[in-house]
Amino acid sequence: MKNTWLAALLLTFGANLPAQAQNPIIRDVFTADPAPLVYRDTLFLYTSHDTASVQETNYKMPDWRIYSTTDMVHWKDYGKRLSPRTFAWATGDAYATQCVYRNGKFYWFVSTFHKKDDNSQGGAAIGVAVSDRPTGPFKDAIGKALIVNEMTKDKPHAWDDIDPTVFVDDDQQAYLYWGNLSCRWVKLKDNMTELAGPIHVIKPKNYIEGPWVYKRKKLYYLVYASEGTKPEMIEYCTAPSATGPWTYRGIIQENSPNSFTTHPGIIDYKGKSYFFYHNGALPTGGSYRRSICVDYLTYNPDGTIQKIVQTTQGVAPAK
Ligand code: CA
Repeated sequence: MKNTWLAALLLTFGANLPAQAQNPIIRDVFTADPAPLVYRDTLFLYTSHDTASVQETNYKMPDWRIYSTTDMVHWKDYGKRLSPRTFAWATGDAYATQCVYRNGKFYWFVSTFHKKDDNSQGGAAIGVAVSDRPTGPFKDAIGKALIVNEMTKDKPHAWDDIDPTVFVDDDQQAYLYWGNLSCRWVKLKDNMTELAGPIHVIKPKNYIEGPWVYKRKKLYYLVYASEGTKPEMIEYCTAPSATGPWTYRGIIQENSPNSFTTHPGIIDYKGKSYFFYHNGALPTGGSYRRSICVDYLTYNPDGTIQKIVQTTQGVAPAK
């Protein structure tokens, strides 16, 4: 027993650290809603930021943060790089985001809340910040929200227009997908800051929120936080095009420890596929004090995704 204890200690604090990363990967602050982006040789990670106290029973999310890595083990912290205060029309919490690269610029699509004004009566809204660099500084790309609550009416609640994911197809057509309790999509113009058509509503099985859309080989993937057993799980659909039709493919991630929500962020980097998510596993963590993790994502030969194995040791260094 003593030897086992010693072996565990050596494994944890051994001289070879950090041979492996540890989940959660960010341990000094609480982070959520991971959105990875690979630009040149670096993986950038855009995150939400939980600052609720242990006693609080709702989200307190003041800003968005950026991290980067070149080996999946060592993470550089760029700190707070954007907040709802950047958007003159916004107020309230900083919800999930995704940053994408297009035509030499970085477009950071965010979900937050709208002040009551001529453009909206309030509620959740989606904005776009832009920068010449992946780490900013970012400014409001439009000067107003891209999506306001009034633009979608198929759900009555005021916070349905959250969780943007943006996908740029091989033909350079960009698509925005988003929504809570309802998944919507719309084409974007080449400038990434205007809608290029009507808003469509789709109904992926068990869909709750947090969509993540991408393409691999000839298959399009729509991965999302789902009903699960009440704490959210991650389920997904695939399609032959960015506009569907989407076929349900099943659960890829079961509940994540100590967190009601979870959020997918999927990317290939240095020859491997990674699945970012969040849980409440840090000491004093929970549903409002979440932490980002990363584990491997494995595809079957037919393009379907194997169940994610959530680990505490995380992934090996990428070369
Ligand atoms: Ca709405």
